[in-house]
Amino acid sequence: MSYLSEIYNGIKTLLTGMSVTGKYFLNSRKGAITQQYPDNRDTLKMFERFRGEVVMPHDEKNEHQCTGCQKCEIACPNGTIEIIWDRAIDEDTGKKKKKIDKHIYHLGMCTMCGLCIEACPTDAIKWAQNYENSVYDRTQLTRVLNKPGSKVKAGIED
Ligand code: SF4
Ligand code: SF4
Repeated sequence: MSYLSEIYNGIKTLLTGMSVTGKYFLNSRKGAITQQYPDNRDTLKMFERFRGEVVMPHDEKNEHQCTGCQKCEIACPNGTIEIIWDRAIDEDTGKKKKKIDKHIYHLGMCTMCGLCIEACPTDAIKWAQNYENSVYDRTQLTRVLNKPGSKVKAGIED
């Protein structure tokens, strides 16, 4: 009897496992994510949660939202971010205000943990979805996130 019940349990377990696999197979067909890379390189768009590298968006006036508060630099666990900053006269208030000279990001050291983005009080940095970051020379993985001649948007305070 126990021999037969073992066979029964074995078949039942097998069918349970196959039903899970079958459901996944049928449902995954609706949103298939297999990509014909690199043939589709020109049209491939990564999914929203993808973490390619940290970037600093600028608007059409070459303005960003970074105040130079250094919270991202402090939050980064492995020194991937370096903020070089200075003080300059604020055009609106006439007072001296901190501003970034260079917001340096070493992509080659980044673990994509996202702590810097979470720490930023002004949403000045975010994830980019680029995925082809291989280079022969690792110095090319060091980026200056603020563009030349850029400045912080008026009214952005940390
Ligand atoms: S994602 Fe993590 S490792 Fe990369 S720069 Fe931000 S805090 Fe540092
Ligand atoms: S990116 Fe954000 S957290 Fe980092 S210095 Fe600029 S404002 Fe501060």
